Amino acid sequence: MSFLPFTRPTIDEATIQSVAEVLRSGWITTGPKCREFEAALSQHCGGRTVRAFSSGTATLEVALRLADIGPGDEVITTPLSWVATANVILTVGARPAFVDIDPLTRNIDLSKVEAAITPRTKAIMPVDLAGLPVDRDRLYAIAQQHGLRVIEDAAQSFGANWKGKPIGSFGDFVSFSFHANKNLTTGEGGALVLPDANLAPLTEQLRLQGVVRHPDGEMSVDVVGGKSNLTDIAAAIGLGQLPHLAAFTAQRRALARAYFDSLDPTLGYTLPVADFTQSNWHMFQILLPLERMSISRGEFIARMKEREIGVGVHYPAMHLFNIFRQIGYREGDFPQAEAVGRRIVSLPLFPAMTLQDVSRVCTAISAVLKETQR
Ligand SMILES: *Cc1c(COP(=O)(O)O)cnc(C)c1O
Repeated sequence: MSFLPFTRPTIDEATIQSVAEVLRSGWITTGPKCREFEAALSQHCGGRTVRAFSSGTATLEVALRLADIGPGDEVITTPLSWVATANVILTVGARPAFVDIDPLTRNIDLSKVEAAITPRTKAIMPVDLAGLPVDRDRLYAIAQQHGLRVIEDAAQSFGANWKGKPIGSFGDFVSFSFHANKNLTTGEGGALVLPDANLAPLTEQLRLQGVVRHPDGEMSVDVVGGKSNLTDIAAAIGLGQLPHLAAFTAQRRALARAYFDSLDPTLGYTLPVADFTQSNWHMFQILLPLERMSISRGEFIARMKEREIGVGVHYPAMHLFNIFRQIGYREGDFPQAEAVGRRIVSLPLFPAMTLQDVSRVCTAISAVLKETQR
């Protein structure tokens, strides 16, 4: 039996062909393919202005700069995310103000956000973990009431929707990642949806050394910009992925349904929220019943690997990493995120997977849990 990874990108021959064309064209960095990709992304996002970047991390950092967030400011976010989410807050000199998660959705607990707002709070940065959207009605109601910006870290929710509206087609700043493991990939890449088309010139400056090129051929530099433009090679991959997005999402939902049908919760693990309309099922994550197991999560993952199945951890609660301990966070600060972060595992889920693969995973989990029950 071949190894089943927890995720794998699906790239078709037409995409490989279009990448080859870019490579032969003589123009491989940012150019016509990027503009075409941005236009296609804009169409996906209800006509809003979108700019492509070399990573999701870069889009988040630029969004923070566009929102004028820096030293002395606080940004409310979740401790249960990829560390990029809070890293960028530190990068611009602001403080990540973590708020515990709702153990059901595993997303930021919006009922706890208002208690975390201080005079320094400038923005909320929610994360749609595993592609399950944070309640946008409640999120924007809180933001509006307290005059806060929202920077949606929608790295995992491209293709998901809130009440039928695609994530990215409404709201304030929305950031996507096109990392190899995300639902739509460019290898590495990202995109930022802007709340206002007038921000596009500054966004482009922050993306590339702050440079403004004038019609007379001269250039000027008035802001400190980074270097996070997307290559045309990567944009061609993204353009090849976009037409498949709906099918990718449908297959992910079908596989998630199959997990619900085949998993056996009497073994003690906790299933995710069964949302088959809004979530894009970026990941299928269960919480291990560690108290009923004689082995650790690491040993569980190793035993699944012996059965040729890849299982991931997304994520340990990040406030316990040293860079956040150094700014005062401690064990016990966010008990829900800590408990979920200790127990969570991501099962294989990607569009090229089959229903038989799902049964194989479920059989292996049952076997490992039964042989290590205590
Ligand atoms: C992937 C991811 C990012 C960062 O995206 P990159 O493209 O890897 O820089 C940020 N936040 C979350 C929640 C992610 O999953």
